[in-house]
Amino acid sequence: MLNFKGKDLYIEQVKFADIAQKYGTSVYVYSKNKIICNFKKYKKALSPREGMVCFACKTNSNASILKLLSSLGSGADTTSGGEIFRCLKANFDPSKIVYAGVGKTVQEIEYALKSKIFMFNVESFEELEAIDKISGRLKVKAKVSFRINPYVDPDTHSYIITGKKGTKFGIPYEAAVSAYLLAKKKKNITISGIHYHIGSQILDVVPFKLAAQKIKKLVDKIEKEGINIEYINCGGGLGIKYESGQKVLPVKNLISEIFSVFGKEKKFIFEPGRSIIGDAGYLLTKVIYRKNSGGKNFLITDAGMNDLTRPTLYNAYHDIIPIKKTSTKKVKTDVVGPICESGDFLGKDRMLPVLLQGECLLVKCAGAYGAAMSSSYNSRPLLAEVLVADDKTFLIRKRASYNDLLINEVV
Ligand SMILES: *Cc1c(COP(=O)(O)O)cnc(C)c1O
Repeated sequence: MLNFKGKDLYIEQVKFADIAQKYGTSVYVYSKNKIICNFKKYKKALSPREGMVCFACKTNSNASILKLLSSLGSGADTTSGGEIFRCLKANFDPSKIVYAGVGKTVQEIEYALKSKIFMFNVESFEELEAIDKISGRLKVKAKVSFRINPYVDPDTHSYIITGKKGTKFGIPYEAAVSAYLLAKKKKNITISGIHYHIGSQILDVVPFKLAAQKIKKLVDKIEKEGINIEYINCGGGLGIKYESGQKVLPVKNLISEIFSVFGKEKKFIFEPGRSIIGDAGYLLTKVIYRKNSGGKNFLITDAGMNDLTRPTLYNAYHDIIPIKKTSTKKVKTDVVGPICESGDFLGKDRMLPVLLQGECLLVKCAGAYGAAMSSSYNSRPLLAEVLVADDKTFLIRKRASYNDLLINEVV
């Protein structure tokens, strides 16, 4: 949804320079049509079977974006009571909300049960005991899947691998059958499915396929024990194209591979996050200063690691481009933020044209784990967020003020 008209870069039909002018920088900018298009790919790929696409709202939990997705018929994959709250506020049908996470508290479980969410993705035996007990006290039945760790090792950053032996996530593969046998005996538990999620930013079909095959073996074993597995929840994890050389696995290929493993009778849940919102969002930032130090060129921007954490946290690569075409020659440049940390960078050793002070850069693919992971570190107010639809822009989060920095502080 990016395009140049003359020398200016546009998102849909709006010039980035106009967005910077109107809303200030730094600012997160999203393309509404791109979000819709990404979501519809999942919906269409799933359509031969029964099931749901549950947007992983930890990737971006802005109320307007959640509302947009709920209006498209999306369900939600949540990881905390706060996310359930946000999703209910954004009109998600509670019967389309699933809830994962290794550390659900009593308060969160109660809140989820009272909200009548669809399903808990249970990650430990003790959590099962807790859900059973709390459900009994509230006189309700909890629908559960177990999140199973299938022990596959996708080729992605170690911080975002979740389905490998030795991670904290899910029930160990070898304990899965006993977990289901235990759940079968619990009075306040209804077994509804099985869940797995192997990691994030996965570009290769092989780990998805391996995980599905391993889970299918378990499903057969569990069903031999007289326990019906209605839903197969395959998690999220599909990667997006952050770098020009990367080849992305099409959604329909991923889903049809998974269908072929599980056969026709099952219902499916998919929990995409990054692949819905990642490439629909951008961080628009301004060059404050330039300097040359120790033989390196630096562009110092008004966005820092508190605004976009991924480069610092995962050494993640985000493409960075100017929003105006220039003919000046390109030089190797580090794009860094104003935070007092050496780890505060948006990109290193990038070939960028020589920019002037006040010119803008666009950090691409910043829609997922961007604003959602941002903080006010260094007492920098949280950024504004803008949604673009065709030729219109909508402020969907106001820029925080200095006063907001003090909210809830007691003096
Ligand atoms: C984070 C997460 C997702 C989404 O992963 P993406 O890589 O953003 O698609 C899905 N399911 C669970 C359980 C998660 O923790």
